[in-house]
Order: sequence, then structure tokens, then C-alpha cells
Amino acid sequence: MEHQLLGHKDGLVQLFEKSLRDTLFMSRAFLRPRQVNQLASASAEAFFDYLRLPDSTRAGSFGAELCHIGVGDQAVLQMGQCLREFCWLHEPEIITSSYLDTVEAFHRSVVQGYFSAHRSNVLEEQERIRSALQQTLHRYTVQIETAAEIARTTVSMLDLGLLLTTAVDLIAERFQLDYVAIYLVDDERAQAVLRAATGEEGRRRLARQHRLRLTGPSTVAHCILSKQYLVASNVEGEKAKSVGSWLPSTQSEMAFPLASRSDVIGALSVQSNRAGLFSTQDITGFQIMSDQLASAIENARLYADAERRAEDLAQAFEQLKELEVLKDRFMENVSHELRTPLTMIRGYAEFMLSGQTGAIDDEQRDALQVIMRNSEALSELVADILSMLEVSTAKTALTAISMVETVQDSVAGFQFLAAKNGISLEADLRVVNGPCQVMARSDHLRRITDNLLSNALKFTPAGGRVDVRLWESDYRVHLEIADTGLGIPPHLHDRIFERFFQVDNSRRRVHGGAGLGLALVKELAESYGGSVKVISPGNDQGSTFTVILPRVGA
Ligand code: ADP
Repeated sequence: MEHQLLGHKDGLVQLFEKSLRDTLFMSRAFLRPRQVNQLASASAEAFFDYLRLPDSTRAGSFGAELCHIGVGDQAVLQMGQCLREFCWLHEPEIITSSYLDTVEAFHRSVVQGYFSAHRSNVLEEQERIRSALQQTLHRYTVQIETAAEIARTTVSMLDLGLLLTTAVDLIAERFQLDYVAIYLVDDERAQAVLRAATGEEGRRRLARQHRLRLTGPSTVAHCILSKQYLVASNVEGEKAKSVGSWLPSTQSEMAFPLASRSDVIGALSVQSNRAGLFSTQDITGFQIMSDQLASAIENARLYADAERRAEDLAQAFEQLKELEVLKDRFMENVSHELRTPLTMIRGYAEFMLSGQTGAIDDEQRDALQVIMRNSEALSELVADILSMLEVSTAKTALTAISMVETVQDSVAGFQFLAAKNGISLEADLRVVNGPCQVMARSDHLRRITDNLLSNALKFTPAGGRVDVRLWESDYRVHLEIADTGLGIPPHLHDRIFERFFQVDNSRRRVHGGAGLGLALVKELAESYGGSVKVISPGNDQGSTFTVILPRVGA
């Protein structure tokens, strides 16, 4: 039977061809005319093979092959019909039920082979999609995790060099990239300077201080100027045109601007030796990373700036301290040197005033009195300066001093001046409620009372009053000196205690002075654990100074 049929093999091929063409459109398979013919012949061959040796496995493999070629299921189902038609058409006399059984068996095996291949194709496709999805998800997760890790690691890094090196190493390792580099724009905004890069080549470039012109053709420069990211998926053809950040082996690159609040401060370049490695899916993660990096870089720069400024300040402070010591030493020397000549001047003036060097007339007396007054004022100033220089040095030989006596002596010393100026000076010691003793050096306490009284008399016009009060509380001794004089504007109440500060006013300047008195009072009081304050409502409304010192026996 098969010999008889074999003679009509071409007819069967034609039937197959026709059926294939008819079903091609429906099954959306794409076959070229030559392929249709080859397939039809192969189908006829497979059928005759089966007639010779009914091997269902081989027939099934043929069905699977049809599936792999992309022949649609319609064509495969139609195959049985073709075989039946072929027999009826050409050899009705040889059609037996066993032949039809063979046709059915062959077709069944082909169809089974076809569909089982089809099923596994579908499963494979599903698997491919699933793994592609998984890969994308994994990549995305790694990107986000790395962005977070970089943010975590770098945000606390205040050393810029370490921060940049850590960032490039971390990115290269996590994304298995062949080269990662960070460029920062220089101060002139003319070049992008390589600040961190991975691998051997990275080290070489860093050693060479690799830099790119911002107006040049590199991707990094372009990214910085345009403030846009760039994805280059196959750079091989571009290498001749673009000089710059690519390594010889680089095939694809992404470059991201590092944008701070005000401007783009640099760029991150990530490169791979594989072409087409980067896709738009990678952009979000890297963009987040670049933003984190930019703010970490800015933090580190701000910190470095602050540190530099602190160092400058510390240095300036050291120099100031040295100058201060030199100045103090100089003032101390000069003051000591002034003391002896001043004593001589006063001594001789006093001697001459006493008439022991011969009679003097009124004019000479006045002149000598001017010499006396001025040399006394100068002696006071020298005493102030020396006390001030001693304030910070260790105080030896402190004894319990009675403030009552100090105040009495001081007030007595100023009575003559007060009377001369037409001012009533009174110490109301009736309020004293205890010994008012203070552990101090007596000359220091005397400088406090003398300076306050001298000021009160200096700045109070004739007809005014100066009242002194003294009392003790649980732990302290309080000294109050109130006058009815020029007063002090409230906004200057703190400043008058600064060294060399004087209220700028022609009515006050006539009194001279160096602006040291109140500073000395404050520094002395504080050095004994006390304080001084002033109350004065304003110009011409008088002033009240209060000194508080720790009390002995408290
Ligand atoms: P000096 O008296 O040498 O100028 P001080 O340090 O003793 O320096 O005082 C600083 C300034 O405070 C004075 O120049 C003066 O203007 C003001 N001042 C001090 N005491 C009084 C006071 N009792 N009444 C008004 N002004 C005062």
C-alpha cells in the first residue's frame, strides 16, 4: 500500500502546501514560500516514514518541531484532513480501515507532540517573564537599598575624601560595575576634577589629577552643564569623538548631575564593559543616590569650612593671648617705672609748698598745687593699672578686712574734694548691721571704694549729693554709692564696665580719666566672687552703684 501511495507523494505535498497557506493567516505564523514548500515535503516525509514504521515517538517529535518552527495549530489540525483527502482523492480502492487507523494514529501523535511542545513553550515563556520581572525587581531593590546605604554611610561622614571614596566603592560593588567615578567642579567653574574613582585605572587617573573641561565633549561635562542625566548604551562608536571619562574597555555609561541647593557641583559617572547594560529602569535609583551624595558632599564641605574657620580663630586667639601677655608686661613695667618719679615729683612739690626751700608767692603756690593734683591723679591711674594687672594673678595673704573701716577711710579721703566741689558726701553707717568683713587684700577693697567715690564726685555738679550705705545680709556685704549727678543712659549700663570705655559726652570729657576705673571695680569684685551693678534712669537723673562681696563667717 505504501508503494502505491508513494507514487503520489507530490500530490500529498501539494495538499499540505495549500492547507499550510490557508491556515497561515489564521495561525499568524510567518513562513516564507520556500519554507512552506519545505515544510509540506517534510510533513509528507514524516507520514511515509510512519507508514513504513509506525513510530509514534518520531511522529510526536515531528509535531514538536512544527511547534518550534512556528506553524499554527490550525495547520497541524488540518494535517489529518489532508491525509484523509489525499487517500480518497487518488486511491479510493486502497483505502482500508487499517489505513485510516494508521492515519489517525500518525496524526494523533503529531498533534500530541505539537501541543505538548506548545505547552512547554508557554511554560518557558512564563518562566522567562517571571525571571525578567524578578531581575528587574531585584535590581530596583538593590538600587533603593544602596541609595539608602549611601545616605546612611555618607551623611555622617565629614571627611570629604573618605566620603567620595566610600561612595564610589560602594556603588561599584553593589551594582557590579567596572568603573565608578565622581567629578567635582573647580572654584572657577571651568573644569570637572576627578575626586574619587575605582580600580587601578581610577587610581592612576587620580594620581594624574585627571580633569575635564566643562566646555569639552565629555559626557560628564555635558551632564554638568545641561544639569541632566545621560545614558549611553553603546559608546564604542562614540569613543573617537568624545574624550573624557570613559575607560578603553567601557561599553556603556550613565552620568548623573550632583545638584546642591544652588548649583550642580559635580557628576557621578558609572560605567560597564557590557554594551546596553543600563536602561531607563536604572535611572530612578541612581538619581536618588546622586541627590543623597550631593547633600552629603555639601555637608562635608560646610563642616570643613567651619573647621578651617575655627582653626583660624583659635590661631588668632592664641596670638591675641600672646599680645595680651606682652601688653600686660609692658604696662606693668611702665607703671612700676612711673611710681618712683611720681613720688619724687609729689614729694618735692610738697616740700616746696611747705616753704622749706624758701618763701613762695601765691602764683607759685597755685602752680605747685596744680603739680600736686595732677601727680596725684597720675598716681591713682598707676595704682589702678597695677591692681588691674594683679587681678588675674594669685592673691596671696588675704585677710579679713572690715568694709566699715575701708569705707570710712575712703570717704574721709574724699571729703575735702566734695567740699571744694560743693557736694554733700555722707556715709550713712547707721544701717551697718554687722562687722561687714570680707576676705581680701585691703588695697584692692580701697580701689573699689575710691574709684566709685571719685566717679560719683566727678560726675555730680555742685549742689548735688553723694550717699554711701553699707550693710550685710546672710552671705554678703553690700556697698551702695548713690549720687544725684549726670546719670548714665540705660543702653550703656553694661558697656561702662568695659576697659577703656567712656561715655562720649562733652560734659563728661572735661573730667579726663582713662576709662579704667569701673572695669577695675568689676574685675576686682568678681575676682573675690562678688559683683557690681548700676541703676540709673538716664541723663541727669543720678546713678546708684552697688557692690556685693562674700561675707566672712557666712
Ligand atoms: P573714667 O571715669 O576714667 O572715665 P570709669 O571706668 O571710671 O572711667 O567710668 C567709665 C564711664 O562711666 C565714665 O567715663 C563716665 O562717663 C561713666 N560714669 C562712671 N561713673 C559715673 C557716675 N557716677 N555718674 C555718671 N557717669 C558715670
